[in-house]
Amino acid sequence: MPELPEVETTRRGIAPHVSGVRVVAVIVRRRDLRQPVSKSVAAIAGRRVTGVRRRAKYLLLEIDDGSTLLIHLGMSGSLRVAAAAQPWKPHDHLGITLANGKQLRFHDPRRFGLVLHLTGDPLAHQLLEKLGPEPLEDGFTTAHLAAACAKRSAAIKPVIMDSKVVVGVGNIYASEALFRARIRPRTAARHISKPRLAKLVAAIRAVLTESIAAGGTTLRDFLHSTGEPGYFKQRLFVYQRKGEPCRVCGTAIRHAVLGQRATYWCPHCQK
Ligand SMILES: [Zn+2]
Repeated sequence: MPELPEVETTRRGIAPHVSGVRVVAVIVRRRDLRQPVSKSVAAIAGRRVTGVRRRAKYLLLEIDDGSTLLIHLGMSGSLRVAAAAQPWKPHDHLGITLANGKQLRFHDPRRFGLVLHLTGDPLAHQLLEKLGPEPLEDGFTTAHLAAACAKRSAAIKPVIMDSKVVVGVGNIYASEALFRARIRPRTAARHISKPRLAKLVAAIRAVLTESIAAGGTTLRDFLHSTGEPGYFKQRLFVYQRKGEPCRVCGTAIRHAVLGQRATYWCPHCQK
């Protein structure tokens, strides 16, 4: 599943090809995604793309008439820039033909993705309005996390994975950040001291920043296909390492299901 680093990597990959470029046509080959593709997407033909932003795992293609294409990659979606003449692949559901001869293609075998055309403030849309702060922006502070934790008797891991608390902390990143902050995933959120929460905030920022720098953990292809696994994957400390020795202390990594998600930790390093 594309996580925040893959979505940000996608944004950085496509932005130079689409920003400032006029849209020639929008081709919808299949409309029945998680929600139907907006009929009004065709209205962006003739308009210019002014930029590509990201909010949580949504990409926002900004159009010069003030409207926005809101794109979510769902479980299996990807965006890639192709030459307009290049043959379509199976599961390429939508293409935006650009005046520079390229085409932005939305590919999604499982069709849990989303392509909506919004007028008005996209951040006020019901899918975005209740989202918590971005993990790599100023709004995600120790004070913010402490306030969220104070009200929770729940374990810390599902709290940091709650998009109302902070967006974009998927299962891999939650496990890795908790390892780096030396906090056990099951520790009750409200019992964690502020200095430890400060370490957790820093750890979440660090794992996401490193993963973005490495091009995401799972993304293999948005512009080019190398077939190489993501670099970050080789540096995971706990995720999917059940029974393997901790890279810090050598203790076997533990595994349990917590909040219906596979959870990994080192019983020696994490308290
Ligand atoms: Zn350890």
